[in-house]
Amino acid sequence: MSEVKEVKAVKAIAASAESDVNSLLVAASKTGTISGEQFTALFAVMMAKEARIAAKELALEESLKARDEQRRRDSDNYTVAKIETQKACRHLKGGRGRQRGQQKDPAVYLHTFTNGAQVIKCQLCGAKWKPKDTDEYLDINGMKVPNWTKIGWGRALEMAEDSSNKPSSSERFGGVVAGVTPKTAEGLAVPNMQI
Ligand SMILES: [Zn+2]
Repeated sequence: MSEVKEVKAVKAIAASAESDVNSLLVAASKTGTISGEQFTALFAVMMAKEARIAAKELALEESLKARDEQRRRDSDNYTVAKIETQKACRHLKGGRGRQRGQQKDPAVYLHTFTNGAQVIKCQLCGAKWKPKDTDEYLDINGMKVPNWTKIGWGRALEMAEDSSNKPSSSERFGGVVAGVTPKTAEGLAVPNMQI
């Protein structure tokens, strides 16, 4: 038999055997024996299954890899664009409302989290400065990254102080607050009121 014919024969056996491979296995387990023909059929089925699984796994692996690469590219593009925006930003409120010669009004504000951590943020470009930041380096997840804003915590704090923006904090959302929850005109409480 030629190789091609042999492969075709095995495939044919596999196709016919695959449907009743379970009954074949049941029979084999009962008798404890398996004929050469049955073995060939079983082997062909197993090999065909293995090949299909391997192909599926490879395809999945490749698609996941492609997706990760695309995500990384998107994320890189996003970060690069954001950095360019922050480099170009003057972090100043301005435009038509502001008079010529009027004192500069930085578009930044100081935010204090409930745990006491502080951040200064620009409302225009989203630039963030934290206490460990210097003019040279930004502290990002404990790593020193060259500071593309060229502004460190000290200068960011000065900008926040010069700004007409009031500092914000998360504190007001915690603890007990004065006042009462509104009720309906009939004086009933509103269940699960979300405003
Ligand atoms: Zn800015």
